[in-house]
Amino acid sequence: MFSNQNKGKIALISVHGDPAVEIGKEEAGGQNVYVRCCGEALAKQGWQVDLFTRKASPDQENIVVHSPNCRTIRLNAGPEAFIGRDDLFGYLPEFVESFKQFQEREGTLYPIIHTNYWLSSWVGMQLRKSQLLKLVHTYHSLGAIKYKSISTIPLVAKTRLEVEKACLETADCIVATSPQEEEHMRTYVSEKGNIKVIPCGTNIERFGSVRREAARDKLQLSPDDRVVLYVGRFDPRKGIETAVRAVSHLSSERKAQLKLMIAGGWTPGEKDGEERDRIGQLTQALGIENNVQFVGRLDHTVLPTYYAAADVCVVPSHYEPFGLVAIEAMACGTPVIASNVGGLKFTVIPEETGLLAPPKDDRAFAEAIDRILADPQWRSQLGEQARSRVEAKFSWDGVASQLGELYSDSIQQLTSEFFKHHFAG
Ligand code: UDP
Repeated sequence: MFSNQNKGKIALISVHGDPAVEIGKEEAGGQNVYVRCCGEALAKQGWQVDLFTRKASPDQENIVVHSPNCRTIRLNAGPEAFIGRDDLFGYLPEFVESFKQFQEREGTLYPIIHTNYWLSSWVGMQLRKSQLLKLVHTYHSLGAIKYKSISTIPLVAKTRLEVEKACLETADCIVATSPQEEEHMRTYVSEKGNIKVIPCGTNIERFGSVRREAARDKLQLSPDDRVVLYVGRFDPRKGIETAVRAVSHLSSERKAQLKLMIAGGWTPGEKDGEERDRIGQLTQALGIENNVQFVGRLDHTVLPTYYAAADVCVVPSHYEPFGLVAIEAMACGTPVIASNVGGLKFTVIPEETGLLAPPKDDRAFAEAIDRILADPQWRSQLGEQARSRVEAKFSWDGVASQLGELYSDSIQQLTSEFFKHHFAG
């Protein structure tokens, strides 16, 4: 149902995470889904939503309309070609200029700018210097955490850390997607600044629309087949290696029935292609290539079938500020075994909606998989409880209502500041 109310205009800026592209490949994951789904849900609730991103190919349309009152606008900033996020900072001044020109052309100003990822926060902070607006920011990833876990620190690291600190301390509101992310901001970035916890969400009609039996028939699984599912990008920090090693530790009786399905796209020669090759070689070295199926990139129309057919979904990430895959699987009634890190500690309740294991600990993951597969009745119970948790806490409509409240309060504040400034005394 669409609301007739016109609550106001908002711009969501996501310089590198285009909300209108295919999800599930390098550079396109949770952030793209978040921006797109928040935008669509906010539009349904009466907001006029424009999602801004960088045009990364001449073939891309400048404007994509998603639904009434929600569109993606691609701005020119640097060459119309793919540029990795670590190399984008130099093009941001052009993005700011293009944004201002767009506003001029449309004869509009956005009172709320909600930026996503540190690159966009820089854009938001620049825009705020020259126009009256409230700046809301979601990090999606924190440099301070990321740089602890990788061996090659990019050149842009120092700038990123400075921008992330400045944003936390000066934005009107930071949206942390889990209490764990808030705690990390306080510990590793700054004690100053205004943070509000509003989780990510999922489409609970779509994820949960397919029944387990129908899903298993569709994927031609036999009743004895046991499916462990991984969904996500091919990135070493996603911990696919942990899932693969965990499967190799299972007993031969268990392995005789087991399929590890890995869903996610890759491009040969790119970073995700390298990780795909590495994982493929590992399955061979461990002698479990017959247990592992690379099903490629799946979109959100087919993913509900895979989640519903699976016995368990694994999220073995080294770190995750939120982790959408966990709640998508839970919404489909599938228990989740996740690393006990970040937002996964918030979404997955151990022994109630799945199990948690230390990151990179393939023995602990193996044990957790074995426990759930050994008890189908408990598995179903965990799945039902997982679905209930998502319904209660993580629907996009619920998330959009909370964001909408934040925007309305911010607009009210902006209005009273404006009047105070112009008419006081
Ligand atoms: N995804 C997808 N198709 C795939 C693999 C992943 O649509 O083949 C989606 C997945 O459903 C989820 C998002 O990509 O919505 C990944 O988000 P998450 O927060 O789990 O991880 P991120 O990519 O942000 O690290």
